[in-house]
Amino acid sequence: MISLLPGIQNSSWYNYYFQVETSSIPAIILNTMNKDNFTDEDVFVHLSHRPTRILQGVISTNDSTKPSFKAIEREHHSSLGRLSRLPLEILHETLVHLDIQSLLCLSHVCAQSKAIVDSIPIFSKLATHASHIFTIFHQAKILNLHSISTLYEALQSDRCVSCGAHGPFLHVLLASRCCAICSMVNQSLWVTSLPLAMQAFALTKEQVGSLQVMWSIPGKYGIVGRISRQQSIRLVNVRAAKVLALGDMSMMDWDLLHPLDERNIPTADKLALLQWYRAAPLSGLRRDPCTINDVNVGGTDRFCEMGVVPFPTLVDGAVESGLWCRGCKMTYDKYIAGMDAVTLSRLIPKGCDDRRFLFRMTYKSWSKAELVKHAKICCSAAAVISEERSSVG
Ligand SMILES: [Zn+2]
Ligand SMILES: [Zn+2]
Repeated sequence: MISLLPGIQNSSWYNYYFQVETSSIPAIILNTMNKDNFTDEDVFVHLSHRPTRILQGVISTNDSTKPSFKAIEREHHSSLGRLSRLPLEILHETLVHLDIQSLLCLSHVCAQSKAIVDSIPIFSKLATHASHIFTIFHQAKILNLHSISTLYEALQSDRCVSCGAHGPFLHVLLASRCCAICSMVNQSLWVTSLPLAMQAFALTKEQVGSLQVMWSIPGKYGIVGRISRQQSIRLVNVRAAKVLALGDMSMMDWDLLHPLDERNIPTADKLALLQWYRAAPLSGLRRDPCTINDVNVGGTDRFCEMGVVPFPTLVDGAVESGLWCRGCKMTYDKYIAGMDAVTLSRLIPKGCDDRRFLFRMTYKSWSKAELVKHAKICCSAAAVISEERSSVG
């Protein structure tokens, strides 16, 4: 797994982040109803939801035209030969370093090899809990990109590689987990077309040959605003393109050598996008992405959501897919309808843009345990639960 933040879970800002969640955001302490008015069950039944506006903005997982793996199956009539003499444990330890494509090929060698592949514990867990990624990797032509041990490592984590908060998505090129907000505001997680990457980072055709490439999957994309993308094109990761361009140089030195030629860039939007790519951070955001003010990149050349897919977590034997808070949505709606300055001053961390902060909180996902904690300090949680209870009662 590529980590944008090596050692993230031990860093002081990571700890700070979770202190923010529980104490430093004064805002959220506005929950005026007694936190004991609702139970954990109420939180899961009435407060949590999985908004389609977010889940349908990334790579779709409910494609009815799932391809079979026939395209990559091989007709073999050989046996495993000497491999079959190895103890099963040793075979398992070795085979987890293979990618999905190699394992699927191996499983088609003979009945014995199929039984061995099927018996690899982490392969079986991936197939049980996250089989959709096999289909998606097949469509994106990246079945040979990651080992199953790397993918299993991502399955066992629930943290965003960029901010350390809950991450409900898998970045398919990086095999790292990310959250909905970082997938939008951290351009290091974005994917982009090969021509744009070449233009932004002055890369040659020879250079881009070493970049990991995925084929986009036709569909509609966009967590905020949907765009139809029916043509399959090659996509690369923005951060990987930047790292390749820089080599050993600092960004400042490299930028002086490769200034953007504005005469060859037709629109201000495109210029802004290329500059945005160039500004991609090489490490994580190091802060709660809800509190970032200076991100406002739009336009039709956004490909960012085309590289991420909903991905469950398997932590301590429990499978979760991430939950969102209806209370935060209600708070945002109240803000749009009009909110007094005193309430706002309690809700918004110092220095943050009101609308952006509250809007992004509606995109924030939580594990079940985190949502229970959050519900106790979310200012609209009790109101939502009360409303939902009365509507079903
Ligand atoms: Zn994040
Ligand atoms: Zn909330």
